[in-house]
This record gives sequence, C-alpha cells and structure tokens, in this order.
Amino acid sequence: RRMAALQAVVVRDGHVRTIPAMELVTGDVVLLEAGQIMPADLRIVECHSLRMQEAALTGEAHDVTKHADELHEADLPLGDRLNMAFKGTIASAGRGRAVVVATGMQTEMGKIARLLDEDTTSTPLQKRMAVFGKHISFAVLAICGVLFAVGYLRGEEPMLLLLTSISLAVAAIPEALPALMSVTLAISARRMVKKRSLIRRLSAVETLGSVTTICTDKTGTLTLNRMRVEQVALPAEVEIDPTLRERFFQALALSNDVAQDAHGAPLGDGTEVAMYEHALKNGYDKSRLEPAMPRVSEVAFDALRKCMSTVHRVGDEHILFIKGAVESLLERSDGRDGTWFLEQSEAMAKQGYRVMAIGSRAAIPAPMPDDPTMLEQGIMLLGLVGLLDPPRPEATAAVAVCLRAGIRPVMITGDHPQTARSIARKIGILTAQDDGPDAVVSGKELTLLSREELLVRVERIRVYARVSPEQKLNIVSALQENGHFVAMTGDGVNDAPALKRADIGVAMGITGTDVSKEAADMILLDDNFATLAHAVREGRRVFDNILKFIKYTLTSNAGEIWAIALAPMIGLPIPLLPVHILWINLVTDGLPGLALSLEPGEKDLMERPPRHPKASIFAHGLGLHILWVGLLMGAVTLGTQAWSIHAGNAHWQTMAFNVLCLSQMGHVLAIRNSRSFFRTPLFSNPGLLGAIALTLLLQLAVTYLPAMQSVFRTEALSLQEFLIVGALSTIVFIGVEIEKLFARRAPSIEQA
Ligand code: ADP
Ligand code: MG
Repeated sequence: RRMAALQAVVVRDGHVRTIPAMELVTGDVVLLEAGQIMPADLRIVECHSLRMQEAALTGEAHDVTKHADELHEADLPLGDRLNMAFKGTIASAGRGRAVVVATGMQTEMGKIARLLDEDTTSTPLQKRMAVFGKHISFAVLAICGVLFAVGYLRGEEPMLLLLTSISLAVAAIPEALPALMSVTLAISARRMVKKRSLIRRLSAVETLGSVTTICTDKTGTLTLNRMRVEQVALPAEVEIDPTLRERFFQALALSNDVAQDAHGAPLGDGTEVAMYEHALKNGYDKSRLEPAMPRVSEVAFDALRKCMSTVHRVGDEHILFIKGAVESLLERSDGRDGTWFLEQSEAMAKQGYRVMAIGSRAAIPAPMPDDPTMLEQGIMLLGLVGLLDPPRPEATAAVAVCLRAGIRPVMITGDHPQTARSIARKIGILTAQDDGPDAVVSGKELTLLSREELLVRVERIRVYARVSPEQKLNIVSALQENGHFVAMTGDGVNDAPALKRADIGVAMGITGTDVSKEAADMILLDDNFATLAHAVREGRRVFDNILKFIKYTLTSNAGEIWAIALAPMIGLPIPLLPVHILWINLVTDGLPGLALSLEPGEKDLMERPPRHPKASIFAHGLGLHILWVGLLMGAVTLGTQAWSIHAGNAHWQTMAFNVLCLSQMGHVLAIRNSRSFFRTPLFSNPGLLGAIALTLLLQLAVTYLPAMQSVFRTEALSLQEFLIVGALSTIVFIGVEIEKLFARRAPSIEQA
C-alpha cells in the first residue's frame, strides 16, 4: 500500500520534483495534469482546459471545467467553486498549477471522512475452497458421528470416543486453508515487488496464471521510451524559406512541457524531450527563446486528439505551434494539399520511425478564441520529424516466452500502423507467417466493423494502431467474449475503464496516471513488458504451489480419517489419542505444507498452456490422489498397529503415531515436484528441508523427552522399533514416486 501511495508533482525552490502526497504542506505549488487524483485541496492559479471529475465529492456525474479566476460570492456549494480542486477528485483533462490550501483531514474530503472502498474480497480459488471446505465439513461431521455411534455400540468409553471424534473433526476440516492461501499469495506478492511488479489486488497473483492474451502498450513498455530525432523532412517551400525554417525549429523547441531538473537535465515526456533536444542541437534553446515568445495559452495533448498546441506572444501578435499525428494536423490544416506529408510519413513509419508532424498558425485574430477547435484551425504544416525508439532488449525474449506458454501478446498503440508493425516484427509479436493485411488494424477500420465481424477478426489481429483509449474497452470485451483471459496494460486517464474490464488490469509505474493505477490490479514499476511476463510465471508458480499445498493437506487429512475410522471396522482399537491428532494437525500438516509455497517452479511452468480459470482444481488426478494416497497412509498406519499388537509390542500406539507422521514427511518430499525426487535438486527449497527437519526433531522430542511423554502418553522406542517405523514410512513416498512415473509416461490429454 505504501508503495502504491499517491504522489504529487510540486515546485519547490524553483525546481520541479515528485514527492509523496503525504508530505505536501499548505502553500506548496502543485502541477496538475490529466489523470491525477488531487492530493490535497487546491486553489487553481493557472489552468488550460482543466476538467475535473468530482463525482466522489459532489455526486455530479459530468466533468466540471475549472478556471483560475476569482469568485466573489460567499458560501458557494463545493460544486460551484470552480477555481478549486478538491482532494480525491480526478483531473480528467488539461493541465494546471495550483496552491495547496488544505491537506489531510482538513480537506473537504477529509471532513466527510469517507471510508475508502477498498475491496478485500477473496480470490476465486479461495471462494471455491470455502465452498469445498463447507462440503468437507459436513462429510467429516457425518464420519465422526458414525465413528462415535459404532464405538459406543461396541462399548468403548464414551468420553474418549467423544474427544476422538471432536479432534478428528478439528483435524480433518481444512479450516485454515483460505487463511494459508492468503499468506502464500502475500508472500509471493512480496517476492514480485522485488522483481518490479506491484500487486494491488491479491487475487491477481492467483489469476495471472490463467492469462491467455496480453494486450500491451508499445511506447515505453515494449520500447525503451528513449527517443531521438533521427530524421527531419521539410517540404521544399519550407526548406528554401528561412522564416518558415526558423518557425519549424521554434515549434520544436517551444511546443512542449519539457522542464529542467536541478542539474539542467530535461524532464518530461520522451517524445517531447527528443524534439526539445533536437532543437537545442540546432541552436534553438527553449530557455533563451521563451522570454521573447512567452507561452500564453495551450490545448493539452490527449490520446484521442493525438496532438497538442501552444500559443505564444511575439510582440503584439500571437502564434500557435502544434505537433502531433499527421492525420490530426491535416484535419486542422489550412486546406493546402497534404499528399506530400502523408506519403512522406508513411515512408518514414515503414522504417519504424515514430512520426510527428509540426505545424503553425501565424496570424491569430485579435480576441483570441477560447474554444480549442476555433484555435486549432488554419494550420500550416511545416515538416515532419522521425523519432526512433529502440525496442527493449529483453522484450523479444519475453514475447517468445509468452508464445511458448500459450499466451498471445497483442500490441495496442496510438502510433502509426506502419511504425507499430515495424516494432512488432522486430520483437516477434508479428512473425512472418502471421503478418498480413488481417494482422494489423487501425482504429478507423475498427470503428467500421460490426460486433460480429470484430469477434471473428480479433482472433487474427496482432497489432492495433491509431486506436483511441475508448476502443481498448471494445477490444478487451471482444476477446473476453471469445473466451480469452485478458491482461491489459494502460497508462492514461481514458485507459481506466479498459483496465477495470480486463481480467488483469496492469498500470505503468513510471508513466502511469493515478487514475490508471487506481483502476489496475497490478503496477509494473519499471513499465517493462518483460516484468509482466515474469509476473505471469510467478502467478503460475504460486498456483501450482497452492495446489501442492492443498494436495498435501487434504491427503494428510484423508490418511488420518481412514486410520481412525477404519480401525474399529477391522477390530482394532483407535490408533491415535486426541492429542496425537491435534499434534499432527498443527505441526506435521502445517509447517511442511506452508513451506511448499516456497517451491521453485516446475521446469515446464512456461511451456504449458494457461490453466483455464474455471477448471476444477480436482481435475488432473488431484481428487484421485487424495483418495488413494490417503487410503495408503491409513493402511500403513493400521498395518503397523496390527502387526505390533500381534507381536505383543507394548509400544504400538507410539509406533503408529510416528509412522503416520513420517509417512507424511515422505509424502511432502514426493509431491514437491512432478519430476522424480531423485532428479529434483534436493536443496532447491531449503525452507521445506528446514520444516521437515524441525518436524522430525519435534517428533523425536515427543517420543523421547519424559516431560513430553507424559503429555502425549508416548513411550521411548528401541532402535529396532525406530528403524522399522522409518522403513514402513517410506511406503507412501515410494508409492507416490511410482504414481509420478506413470503420470509422466502418459501425458495428459490436455497437453497433447
Ligand atoms: P503510444 O503511447 O501508444 O505509442 P500515444 O498515445 O502516446 O501512443 O501517441 C499517439 C500519437 O499521438 C503519436 O503517434 C503522436 O502522433 C501523438 N503524440 C504523442 N505524444 C505527443 C505529444 N507529447 N504531443 C503531441 N502529440 C503527441
Ligand atoms: Mg504514450
């Protein structure tokens, strides 16, 4: 939670920096941006198309447009205080600057002290286990009832019988399973954060293993977001006209939100920094130009418009600079023929460049229009820049891992189709076989498809380009309707609905907005696709281990039930005392079982298809295993008991107690890996070895320490007896190893 805490961008000592929202004080100057959740109550002092989603505070469903002017009426209701931004509300568009006027409990939100709607619901598996636990409880209670009745009729002592039945019920009902599952998931969430993925909802750890499709962003996730201008293309008329040429570079230098940190290094969006630096290299320094051409207004970038513009005052005149996708600029152009720009940008995109068009509007009529659409028109396109954003070196390997694991990575980007295709080919999302007209689709084509067509097409598409965030929601739901289990990455405000809708919503730690993080199930702290692939692997490992854990616990319980319930049927006294049953339940079952969650993954973890999220956990032979191994465990215990009673051995109870306990140790060693025990590295899970050693030590103490003997009614075993106990306890181990041998010989149908 602390790692996912809200951050605020402040200006302190003239420098922009990001601090935890908790450290804000009254008087701090905060920079606002679309996607942020307000960290405090703020008086807005400057803003550009800033809109707020205040439903959390006022219940007003529509966004409110804010301004920085004075308000003169007293006691305005919250919803009418248009120059204020309140803690907990969301900036849905625009940009601004504001002063903190109240923090924490002094804020309007604090006054309401609304409880956070944290959902602490359990995971799907936990829910199923809870239901299963209830069923088992009834079955066990029935068995205990029968046990008591039969014993009573046979004339056994009622008090002991009652205690035995109750202890058996306590031991056999897996009441701790859901809690232990939470612990296991939490331990693994902690491991994952060390590998740069921050889990916001514990259930995500478990469901990650079921992902069949990953919809991923391109810029920053598959690529480094370390952009450089590699190409500049100017039309002939600009090339020969020094004024227009100059204007092109001024636009590059000025039309961005790049700031400088304390050391003078540029700070900001990767695309913008690249252009800023290119201008600087050509002698156009933003900090030198700005005093003569101060920025007076702007229309902020958003992923829907795919462009942004700034207005600067030069003497008495105003000039507008705009940059963004070529299509977006042409829509706003002065009507000149745009063919050259379209062809040129297509050619650059084909080579993998991220292409940005630059334009300007020189003479803006005197009262400057407020309306963005009125402002952004009559644009003259000045030129194109091609930016290169190299793929992340680890992305190719991560994509290959996903494909082998039956997971299909799909790219969704706002960028040009050709740029997207080129990157997708480079990192293997698009292979030579897949590539075709069907494999890449643009947002425009997407809007023309009917729902039915989309459901068909979605199976072939690997790259979605020039899509708007709203379309992401359609893509996710179409995939889900086709039965896919979808993980989806996103960073913007508008991505939140798609992240919520996806089975696993994944936000970006570095570039992500607060809103996207709030909506997500997990956060990639390094924005890296490879981290996501790794998290899936971890999810599969955890799920495997939880299954092993369930296998171990339920088999042990079954063994105890068989031993106790069958004894009277075959004319033996009940082998264990209530205190033995409780001891086994607490120590023998608990420690090694928990240590199973530390098992490193199976070798084929990322080579098998995803687990169906609705598949029964008792498929793949788990139910059968619990039945037969439980029975074997009970039989070995009863066999030991029968044999030693027959041989006139006075220590039969202690022997049976120890055989059951040691058999369980053998069982845990056999099920820790589906490969042969002898081919699994012994020390790959020191936790498990430690747990077993500790259990053995405690078992020895119970058997040999006089103080314990009086509590547990045990008797010291002779060396010979002890060796016999040890030998008999290997039977279960050997049995399960043979089972694994057969399972490997006959690969399951699903894998074939
Ligand atoms: P993605 O992150 O999927 O690569 P974006 O949504 O960031 O795509 O960008 C989509 C398009 O919007 C880009 O191809 C570019 O034309 C334009 N664009 C991106 N960043 C900016 C920006 N800072 N200013 C203006 N236009 C931008
Ligand atoms: Mg982007």
